[in-house]
Amino acid sequence: MKNDKKIFSIVLVLAMVIGTVALSGCTQETKNKIIVGTSADFPPFEYKDTNGTIIGFDIDLIKKVLTDQGYTVEVQDIGFDSLIPALQTGKIDVIAAAMTITDERKQQVNFSIPYYDANQAVLVKVGANVTITKIEDLKNYTVGAQTGTTGWAWVNDTLVATGMLNNDKFRSYDLYTDAVADLIIGPSRVGAIVIDSPVAKAFAKSGNVKIVLNITTNESYGFAVEKGNAELVNKINTGLTAVMATTYWEELVEKYFTT
Ligand code: GLN
Repeated sequence: MKNDKKIFSIVLVLAMVIGTVALSGCTQETKNKIIVGTSADFPPFEYKDTNGTIIGFDIDLIKKVLTDQGYTVEVQDIGFDSLIPALQTGKIDVIAAAMTITDERKQQVNFSIPYYDANQAVLVKVGANVTITKIEDLKNYTVGAQTGTTGWAWVNDTLVATGMLNNDKFRSYDLYTDAVADLIIGPSRVGAIVIDSPVAKAFAKSGNVKIVLNITTNESYGFAVEKGNAELVNKINTGLTAVMATTYWEELVEKYFTT
């Protein structure tokens, strides 16, 4: 009876040791895997190819930077407005979504060094009866933007808060792809969209929509990590600086921004 007890104890201790080793192995593995959150409605930075695979400048870039730093990468498509909450609750580790570095966001996340500059632009439907040559002209139309973006904030602060645009003529969208689809339906839905300038150019390539106005906002995009995660942001900065000094960077720019 005594011996049985002893054996039982030894087995129990062994099981605990094996269990601990197995568990720490798991932790190690999950630490090396980075979940990147994006909003795949923003060509050429992040969008879906015909198979539904998420591709784009940001996706190639962050994958290259993180794999160079020894991580494996998984990309998840989340609405733009839900990206910061997803980061804060640990559902994702990095945001790669052409996210503008702003003082307000800096209170909530840590940004990498800037990797791309942008302004805002106004898109309208080709052939629609819409005349916009200056900012004030926007008051005559329904104006759309994606919730939570700097474009949305510009419409809100510059047009709506000043009383220039009636609030019921301001239309918010979860996705910019839906905003552009509405624009193509016509001015009865939405007459103009305010959107980042490089993305406006990408949508205009379809020939259905065109840029009629540029708005200088001097924005810079950064990758974001959870506030206080200095280790990850340092690794991203190291990797990003290195990649930006190689021909990979030029090839990436050419792949997504020429023709
Ligand atoms: N650059 C803009 C922002 O940060 C828009 C980004 C986006 O819609 N993906 O708000």
